[in-house]
Amino acid sequence: MNEEMKAVIDAIHNSDRVLVTSHENPDGDALGSTLGLGLGLEKLGKEVVFYNKDGVPELLTFLPGSERIETSLEGAGNFDLAFAVDCTGTSRAGGEFEDFLKAGRCRQVVIIDHHQTNSTSADIRLLDSGSSSTGEIVYLLLKTMSVGIDEAIAKNLYTTIVSDTGSFRYSNTNPVTFRDASELVEHGVDPSEISEALFESEPLRKLRLVALVLPTLSVREGNRVASVVIDRSMFEKAGARREDTEGLVNIPRSIKGVEVAVAFREETGNGSPYWKISLRSKGDVDVARIAEHFGGGGHKKAAGCSVEGVLEEVQSKVFGCISGELK
Ligand code: 5GP
Ligand code: MN
Repeated sequence: MNEEMKAVIDAIHNSDRVLVTSHENPDGDALGSTLGLGLGLEKLGKEVVFYNKDGVPELLTFLPGSERIETSLEGAGNFDLAFAVDCTGTSRAGGEFEDFLKAGRCRQVVIIDHHQTNSTSADIRLLDSGSSSTGEIVYLLLKTMSVGIDEAIAKNLYTTIVSDTGSFRYSNTNPVTFRDASELVEHGVDPSEISEALFESEPLRKLRLVALVLPTLSVREGNRVASVVIDRSMFEKAGARREDTEGLVNIPRSIKGVEVAVAFREETGNGSPYWKISLRSKGDVDVARIAEHFGGGGHKKAAGCSVEGVLEEVQSKVFGCISGELK
């Protein structure tokens, strides 16, 4: 057991009230890790509050315990320990959580994460960039603490793996991934049930959105770079939500020969307008470096960032940066 794992286990043993959260716009790894960890801590007798700034996307409401995710920390009281999972830094969990920490409402903060880029904003950081998903690190932690893995925990953790490996297709899939998945199936997961929930349960509005996004597909750099755009008007026409954009970057990524795929999504929040950028790499380009250049982060092959400005400006900055990274 490494130092950090030991420190996390000590911190858990020394706490009663625990807050578990993850990054904004949560995906299967973010929520599956949150729930898998929190449900495991409850088995150790801890009082757990589950929180995510943006709540649970409709597609992930099948995750056992998802109805317990709170979207506000108002009246939540104080905590002995807070976990920010699948987060490159505590700021990824949003402003309310950051303010909560600044106000001294959590005695200790732990980050559990598998991203390649990671800030130092926590008391303890349990990191493994070799892990396919944050859920696999949570699984190791629970096993190390001898927590009995029940079906609810297993479903959450299996979902983290399937989500982040694209069903065992991406380069982060390794022997441990299959071993962990196999054990979780032995703990009661039905792989076909999770696959159907994740990949064959899209709301109709998402497909209407895809129909509007497809015509924006464009390629450059001799077809080595491909991109799509999702703007505000498309959301309105399709009746779609932001969560329905999950996976749309896989459209440009799916093209033969494409090395870098990009999705530009117009953000409609308060404040100044900006574009959320999803980056994927199928070749040697490290897209985490590109995302970091714009203040974001992620993995070598999947990363993201936000850039302010009108689309043409934003695209020219991002494509310029990608061009510089292509060998
Ligand atoms: P996605 O494109 O699916 O939103 O994100 C791809 C990967 O990059 C995920 O692992 C996600 O956590 C990370 N990521 C996306 N946006 C940001 C960001 O703004 N900052 C950081 N640090 N990571 C991001
Ligand atoms: Mn992840």
